[in-house]
Amino acid sequence: MFRHIRTRLAVLYAGLFALALSLVAAALYVVVARTVENQVRSELVASSTVFDRLWAMRSRELGNAAGVLARDFGFREAVATGDPRTAASALVNLRARLGLRMAFIVNVDGSVVGIDDPRLRRDGGALWAALDRGQTSGVASLGGVPHQVVAAPIMSPTLTGWVVFATPLGASEMRSFEQLSAIPITASVLDRRAVEASLATGRPGKLSAPDGVSIALAKPLGRMGEGAPAVLLLRYPVARAMAAWLPLQLAMAATGLIGLLLLVFGSWRLSLSITKPISALDQAAQLMEEGQIVEVEVGTEDEIGRLARSFNKMATGIAERERRIAQLAFNDSLTGLPNRAFFRQQLDLELQQARHRGGGVVLFCLDLDGFRGINDTLGHSVGDDLLRLVAGRLQASLGDALTARLGGDEFAILLDRGHADPGAVAQRLIAALAEPAEVRGHKLAVTASVGIALGPTDGADGDTLLKNVDLALARAKEEGRATYRFFEAEMNARAQQRHQLETDLRRAIAEGEFELHFQPLFDLDTHRIGSFEALLRWNHPRRGQVPPAEFIPVAEETDLIVPIGNWVIQEACRQARAWPEDVRVAVNVSSVQFRRPGLQNVILQALAASGLEPRRLEVEITESIFLESLDSTLAVLHALRALGVRIALDDFGTGYSSLSYLQSFPFDKIKIDRSFIEQLLTRSGASAIVRAITDLARALGMETTAEGVEDSEQLALLRRHGCTSVQGYLFSRPVDAKAAKALVDASRGARAAA
Ligand code: C2E
Ligand code: MG
Ligand code: MG
Repeated sequence: MFRHIRTRLAVLYAGLFALALSLVAAALYVVVARTVENQVRSELVASSTVFDRLWAMRSRELGNAAGVLARDFGFREAVATGDPRTAASALVNLRARLGLRMAFIVNVDGSVVGIDDPRLRRDGGALWAALDRGQTSGVASLGGVPHQVVAAPIMSPTLTGWVVFATPLGASEMRSFEQLSAIPITASVLDRRAVEASLATGRPGKLSAPDGVSIALAKPLGRMGEGAPAVLLLRYPVARAMAAWLPLQLAMAATGLIGLLLLVFGSWRLSLSITKPISALDQAAQLMEEGQIVEVEVGTEDEIGRLARSFNKMATGIAERERRIAQLAFNDSLTGLPNRAFFRQQLDLELQQARHRGGGVVLFCLDLDGFRGINDTLGHSVGDDLLRLVAGRLQASLGDALTARLGGDEFAILLDRGHADPGAVAQRLIAALAEPAEVRGHKLAVTASVGIALGPTDGADGDTLLKNVDLALARAKEEGRATYRFFEAEMNARAQQRHQLETDLRRAIAEGEFELHFQPLFDLDTHRIGSFEALLRWNHPRRGQVPPAEFIPVAEETDLIVPIGNWVIQEACRQARAWPEDVRVAVNVSSVQFRRPGLQNVILQALAASGLEPRRLEVEITESIFLESLDSTLAVLHALRALGVRIALDDFGTGYSSLSYLQSFPFDKIKIDRSFIEQLLTRSGASAIVRAITDLARALGMETTAEGVEDSEQLALLRRHGCTSVQGYLFSRPVDAKAAKALVDASRGARAAA
């Protein structure tokens, strides 16, 4: 019942008010009752005083009149001579004149003259004893009615009797007396015994009677004769006295009631004004808990209003912090685009919706071509700015699509299947990025490769779709970059193959499935084998020989090239130890091996273990190692060179072929890529390029090896161009260690024979 604060407050206030009101009413009643009582008491006292005066005045008056009559000669004579008729007529005259009710004579012998009624006569006679004692006034009962009696002696000259005047103290006399009082008292003369002893003191007190409690004053009156003592009783009923105050009491009760109603109403409104905003706050807090954005109305400027204002501030603060946290969690800080986590969520959501709607999504995955090179050569700040620029261009070209940065230089875009042809969209993206860009003063030509996957066809869930779009992207990269490819189921199969290859590679190291083959390099000056290139062979237990072009990229991606490469170095040095002193061994070292620390130690250990002279070891590197950090690569190269190890630049002409690389390190040898030798006789520019390379190398003091020499015409031309050495099927395919040993021995034998 009192669950609500508003009910509790209203009941509390109403209760307190009613209590206070009752106390005030009670106090007022007591005060009023006291006041009224005091008023009545003093009024009664005053009335009794008036009565006293009236009594005395009347006594005097009657006394005088009686005296005058008693002294009247004729009257005296009539009494003395025993002429009752004359005396009686004088009495009658005087009675009429004075308006007396009774006037008579009591003779000294006790007889009464002037009263005919025998009962009155007897009562009058009964006064004799008192008169004889000299008492001349008092109250006496005559005919059962109390009378004020005044007497005067008749001397003629001796006492012959008394003239007695009596006025009744009956109801009508009392009424006329009552009218003299300011308040409507009732007066009566009673037998003293009829009044409580406590009252008969002359002071006002309480008197209980059947008609209610009265305030009363009993005044003893002097007695004449033998009758019971009398008292004058003045009375005023309390109820009547209080009746005058009844309107005030009613007014107070009415005011109290109205006040109570007003108070209940007011406290109800007041508590509503407190509890309504509290309820609103409570509701708002619940909504907030459910994650809604809420604002409560601020209606007042009081504490509640301030609380509401603070609540609103708190709510916006929380919302803002949540937004910031969400932004941090779901946004890429560099570009401001959504990040992978957010994109992943959205992708799942969209796929779910697509499933319900029966539609589909198009997922694009975009990767910048050669971004790592830009980052490495121009610095990370340029790279960062470029990523921001790319993000901006992507958003500008596909405004409403969800665009995210997945990480590095990889971006993803999600579109509804209903949109334009995905191929056209991809083309538009590639074109938008291909616009020339200027970043921190560098003019950059950015191209991007795009993979496309369709959901749910190419993947019903986000993970699968993302995995497949990655495969499509990888294919686009492989197939020449700045292009796009749709995902095809075959890519998946290939990815699985690749995964299988990786598993097999791990096993191959443990199982010793690797072997080195050696291909001789002929010195064109000395006409002999100057060195062998160690080439890795993998004898797969099921597949047989797996070509290096297939497994080396996988080994590089998975870092398995590090342990494999270490083995190659050791094995190559070991085998070379069996060859003549002037035959070197060349080992291919991957850029991944350069990136990991410890390459230098591995080479040192291999040399030490085999006892091979450092000058007989040649490390073949490709330009790709410079794409990473140039300084640390150069440091390792210099350290190796300091040991006496030779360094050759492999596959020259295929990569970046930046002349700055040639300048940055004094290579011992440049190996001209097989693609140039292949086209040497067929393509016009190829010969000129080879010529240029040999000239440049000679100028820089470097040797040159032509790779992939397959016929003698190529050999003749290379000889003319001044190539130092040649390698190719024309002389020998790569052969196993035993055959390689036989090859050197044979070549030595032939030379010795020559
Ligand atoms: P590469 O270092 O340029 O090796 C030369 C490749 O050309 C070898 O292929 C060789 O068999 C082939 N070749 C030589 N003469 C001719 C010719 O006249 N005609 C044709 N068509 N090809 C010729 P291979 O052995 O298949 O090796 C391919 C690539 O694998 C190597 O290219 C090298 O980059 C890499 N590789 C091989 N072994 C290793 C290794 O132990 N470590 C590392 N990191 N890479 C290796
Ligand atoms: Mg090589
Ligand atoms: Mg090569």
